[in-house]
Amino acid sequence: MTDVADIAPIREAVRALCADFPGEYWRRLDRDRAYPIEFVAALTKAGFLAALIPEQYGGSGLTMTAAAAIMEEIQASGCNGAPCHAQMYTMGTLLRHGSAAQKERYLPGIARGELRLQAFGVTEPTSGSDTLSLRTTAVRDGDHYVVDGQKIWTSRAEHSDLMLLLARTTPREQAKSRTAGLSVFLVDMRQARTNGLTIRPIRTMMNHATTEVFFENMRVPAENLIGNEGEGFRYILSGMNAERILIAAECIGDAKWFIDKAASYARDRVVFGRPIGQNQGVQFPIARAYIGMRAAELMVREAAALYEAGEDCGAEANMAKHLAAEASWAAADMCVQTHGGFGFAEEFDIERKFRETRLYTVAPISTNLILSYIAEHVLGLPRSY
Ligand SMILES: Cc1cc2nc3c(=O)[nH]c(=O)nc-3n(C[C@H](O)[C@H](O)[C@H](O)COP(=O)(O)OP(=O)(O)OC[C@H]3O[C@@H](n4cnc5c(N)ncnc54)[C@H](O)[C@@H]3O)c2cc1C
Repeated sequence: MTDVADIAPIREAVRALCADFPGEYWRRLDRDRAYPIEFVAALTKAGFLAALIPEQYGGSGLTMTAAAAIMEEIQASGCNGAPCHAQMYTMGTLLRHGSAAQKERYLPGIARGELRLQAFGVTEPTSGSDTLSLRTTAVRDGDHYVVDGQKIWTSRAEHSDLMLLLARTTPREQAKSRTAGLSVFLVDMRQARTNGLTIRPIRTMMNHATTEVFFENMRVPAENLIGNEGEGFRYILSGMNAERILIAAECIGDAKWFIDKAASYARDRVVFGRPIGQNQGVQFPIARAYIGMRAAELMVREAAALYEAGEDCGAEANMAKHLAAEASWAAADMCVQTHGGFGFAEEFDIERKFRETRLYTVAPISTNLILSYIAEHVLGLPRSY
């Protein structure tokens, strides 16, 4: 595990960068549902989004602990990493399962931010959490695959050059096993936009740049297949632990932001002639949120340490994501309550962060699916679905 002292300068540098993007910046974007172009450019220029790309491909070659600290600090500063967090981890599938030629071709551009690999096309409207029942097909035709189908919640598709796409290459009934028959492609969306790809934004309760995408006879060069045909589900799963750990770290950052805001307000706000924080009815929920955050933070650190030691961290990554998402949501709710009416005022940023952090008990995996994972894979209980 990376020494905490090594991480401190990274944390300070992220904080310093984020100071240039205050609440007013995010409020304006939120009102317009606009993309934080300047913020993402600044993070890219500083090399933070290339944290996990090895140095041989032009990345920073940092550890998972350092990458998690970057995402945590972004959120703890009141900023929002969701518009660009996928640039940090989506490339992991390419890094682990791509050919040497694919890695040489794409990773340096991704590290420099010239190639944005931000779109991750897995979820479909009819399959939902049941990824294996996805319907988008990729059929081999000479030196191409022809893709037809639809994805939903493909976040950042409008702000991405490449998409990691999971599609079915062997009909389910002909596949060798339950998990076989799906394949992963690196789709060049710049070409695909004039070749069968349509992107439609979905407006959501927060500013998230999410979309639905449609594929109609979209031709993808066969050389863009990652790894072996039919083994894509395994490749996608292998990237999930990094995603869970980094998003858990974002939730820890959110929770810290809410707790700081609430404690500070509770110290200053005077009602009935004393600070509201002098009342146990106000201070206990803040203390409870802090305890929940710290417990979750330990699990995030444990998962990150196992990940970077190359050990199996499936259970820890899932538990970290679960605990951190619950902790950030509990802290968000507490923060609104502590602020009374002002919790609802746009200029306090609390209602915006409240809406933003709500996502993480649902995506990228919802709470029940994590509980099912732990029940089945850790506790040996029968599979429930
Ligand atoms: C803003 C946003 C951004 C997203 N970005 C992306 C993205 O970039 N790429 C991508 O591929 N996906 C993305 N997603 C999709 C996200 O991963 C899914 O929404 C999530 O996995 C849940 O799937 P679902 O919405 O289809 O819910 P469903 O699978 O329909 O589930 C609905 C509810 O039922 C519960 N449930 C379902 N089955 C069971 C069961 N067997 N036991 C117990 N409970 C069950 C779930 O836990 C959930 O609470 C995003 C979603 C959102 C909202």
